[in-house]
Amino acid sequence: MHLHRVFRCGTAMVRPSGISEWGEGAPHLDRRRHRKAFDRRRARAVFLDRDGTLSEDVGYAREVAQYRLFPWTIPALRALRQAGYRVIVLTNQSGVARGYFPEAVVHEVHRRFERELRKQGTQWDAIYYCPHHPEGVVPAYRRVCACRKPGTGLVERAAREFALDLQRCVFIGDKYTDIMLAHRVGARGVLVLTGHGREEWERSQKEGWRPPDHVAENLWEAVQWVLSHESGAECRATP
Ligand SMILES: [Mg+2]
Ligand SMILES: [Zn+2]
Repeated sequence: MHLHRVFRCGTAMVRPSGISEWGEGAPHLDRRRHRKAFDRRRARAVFLDRDGTLSEDVGYAREVAQYRLFPWTIPALRALRQAGYRVIVLTNQSGVARGYFPEAVVHEVHRRFERELRKQGTQWDAIYYCPHHPEGVVPAYRRVCACRKPGTGLVERAAREFALDLQRCVFIGDKYTDIMLAHRVGARGVLVLTGHGREEWERSQKEGWRPPDHVAENLWEAVQWVLSHESGAECRATP
């Protein structure tokens, strides 16, 4: 059934090797032998921004204890994973290039968050960050890179590592760069009004930028929207 859906949508970038037939003939396929192919076809992710989306935006704080997940973050991640989404965090950490904190602080913050998630029985699948900035003061990190959002470098890497179909992915963030990035890679973007979200939303309307696919009060509401507006929903009705 899943095969059929993907085929009808015409969005799938995968025709897994070893599978020559699409459609109703699929049940004879050996799921173990073609496990990768099946995984592949299912691979969809929600890309989450960190500061202002998962956690409070604390500026360029170097004190790890200042970083706090929003109270709804853990239930939101749990809901996504239960629905079969990969949860991938993408974050610009130019504070490293700007000399506000060493890269070790970034790692420590992530370990702190990961511990908290684990304690409550969930996790993210991966976190990717960019420590660069073109005008940074730390020479090692001062550069124009492809990984700083809205650059697509990190997304391309995640797409390779998790064999994702980006058209079935959703990006959630509090900045317009998150939305631009989503649209650049053919995914959907949800703007949350936490963090910088409200000012970003106002600015985008004034500037007439392409609107997000949805605007949500916070991550919890964004996830509810994702779960009730899965891509390919129109195809699911196809017999
Ligand atoms: Mg943010
Ligand atoms: Zn970078």
